[in-house]
Amino acid sequence: MESAEIRRRWLRFFEERGHTVVPSASLIADDPTLLLVNAGMVPFKPYFLGEVKPPYARATSVQKCVRTPDIEEVGKTTRHGTFFQMCGNFSFGDYFKEGAAKLAWELLTTPQDGGGYGLDPEKLWITVYEEDDDAWHIWHDTVGVPAERIQRFGKEENYWDMGVPGPCGPCSEVHYDRGPEFGPEGGPQASDERYVEIWNLVFMQYERGPGQGKDFPILGDLPSQNIDTGLGLERLAMILQGVHNMFEIDTSRMLIDRATELTGVRYGAAEHSDVSLRVVADHIRTAIMLIGDGVAPGNEGRGYVLRRIMRRAIRNMRILGASGPTVAELTDTVIKAMGPQYPELVQDRKRIETVALAEEAAFLKTLKSGTNILDTAVTETRAGGGKVLPGDKAFLLHDTWGFPIDLTLEMAAEQGLSVDEEGFRRLMAEQRDRAKADARSKKQGHADLSAYRQVADSSGSTVFTGYTHTEGEAA
Ligand code: ATP
Ligand code: MG
Ligand code: MG
Ligand code: MG
Repeated sequence: MESAEIRRRWLRFFEERGHTVVPSASLIADDPTLLLVNAGMVPFKPYFLGEVKPPYARATSVQKCVRTPDIEEVGKTTRHGTFFQMCGNFSFGDYFKEGAAKLAWELLTTPQDGGGYGLDPEKLWITVYEEDDDAWHIWHDTVGVPAERIQRFGKEENYWDMGVPGPCGPCSEVHYDRGPEFGPEGGPQASDERYVEIWNLVFMQYERGPGQGKDFPILGDLPSQNIDTGLGLERLAMILQGVHNMFEIDTSRMLIDRATELTGVRYGAAEHSDVSLRVVADHIRTAIMLIGDGVAPGNEGRGYVLRRIMRRAIRNMRILGASGPTVAELTDTVIKAMGPQYPELVQDRKRIETVALAEEAAFLKTLKSGTNILDTAVTETRAGGGKVLPGDKAFLLHDTWGFPIDLTLEMAAEQGLSVDEEGFRRLMAEQRDRAKADARSKKQGHADLSAYRQVADSSGSTVFTGYTHTEGEAA
């Protein structure tokens, strides 16, 4: 079943059951506590918090999400992308645990010719929060899942809250058993790659007080109980299309194939090049989706997320052997793959290409000059018998050549070295302090100009000068 069909069926199923279909919100979160939308519930937060009265009791959506904390997993696990689409159904004081569990089971197990996804019920495993006996009984007594396929998990895994006083509650997850080639038997407790999590049901039930992490008091029941669920569209596609990982599904596979054409490296040739191909497929899509929603590359916040992701895509293309620019071709493929579901990508093609290509040109320039400096520093370090690149080299690369520390870390690691990050951070802090002292003395109006010059000379130019410079030239 194609990704587009998974999405259509999701929305139709819930619409037929009284849910209002709400289009995906932009990835740029309308929420000061979040850089980017990372879950389907984000646009509905004011309703869940009781700040705004919801205009409907039930809603459904397929929401674009970006999760940068998962960046290191990309291409290594089979199931984490930085961009993915979360299919969700939501109840605002309407149905609760039983309603949500029954709907989930019905959609997953109804045969495909009957409008569902047709998963084999015997391959589905359920997890519940260890103290949530209600949920356990609903899955067992009402839905009919055998006791041996329901596992209890602790707070870390199966309890939801927003990190601040407000709504919280247990969750319950549906996992799919992909068989012994993915890991040992024994349910989600034994292997999260074999028993891949596809759907998380959150039961917003209680009001929590202040506390650290998952250590907070429950103050009482919420005045109205809500449901928030999320199913990963790409994970379900991976199962329904019978492929090994989420980068091989219809929409992402086009990108792997394009990267193969551009580099000549065959997918399946070796594990390390496969990881790079998957990283390229993932990151270039995330970057284009971010640009599509109006994020511009920069050195802070969302702009930096985009810049980092794009640079990783470009660097992995180089690791695969590409020597010139490749972003134009890759962007074209992303728009081909995602355009049918997000027509704004097609309408906005010119602008998206301009932003992406300018960023690539700037980065290739930065790489060219910085790579020589880095290689020299690596050679020197090795010659001295060291395994750690000195902090002042990392600082120089950052300050003069616009190499962010994570780029230096990654490139040094590829050559078997670590980096004295502490030394780097100390130099960064010293530079910041000098800049602050500078601003203070200027403000107080008794700046000693000769001292000011000295500071400016010794601290070099402003942070990221090299980068801004090359960027300006390329734009
Ligand atoms: P996992 O434990 O596998 O990291 P999660 O518990 O962090 O997943 P949730 O926050 O519960 O995920 O999100 C709801 C659903 O969204 C998940 O059940 C999964 O199907 C999907 N999902 C979450 N993170 C990703 C990701 N990085 N890439 C693709 N799909 C994801
Ligand atoms: Mg996760
Ligand atoms: Mg999980
Ligand atoms: Mg989860």
